[in-house]
Amino acid sequence: MTQTDTTLFGRIIRRELPADIVYEDDELIAFRDIAPQAPVHVLFVPKTPIATLNELTPEQAPVIGRLALAAANYAKEQGFAEAGYRIVMNCNDNGGQTVFQLHLHLLAGAPLGGFGEGR
Ligand code: 5GP
Repeated sequence: MTQTDTTLFGRIIRRELPADIVYEDDELIAFRDIAPQAPVHVLFVPKTPIATLNELTPEQAPVIGRLALAAANYAKEQGFAEAGYRIVMNCNDNGGQTVFQLHLHLLAGAPLGGFGEGR
């Protein structure tokens, strides 16, 4: 994440804004969503600035795997992997994206209903 990244999530990564951080490594950070849409709602964010999935380059594609793996590891650690969960990435207006730093939503803790409901 460079100093030119002025998104909310860039500011959280640089500790300029507080967040309830549940995981961090060299490549990504995970913190609780401020407006949870499920009992568990954690955002997994790469430290590399990537505005949307549309900007992802082939070289950056492994970033998506790292986000997904971190989410699955978190689900296992927290004991809800077997019960199940949902991961979501929103892209641009019709996808409902509001923060233009790539992120993966992890939703869990209750039956989530039909796809697309509740978000
Ligand atoms: P998007 O709609 O871009 O896919 O997801 C952005 C998410 O960021 C939303 O679910 C929203 O609730 C969350 N969010 C927005 N501002 C903040 C914040 O300042 N802190 C945290 N922890 N989450 C935020």
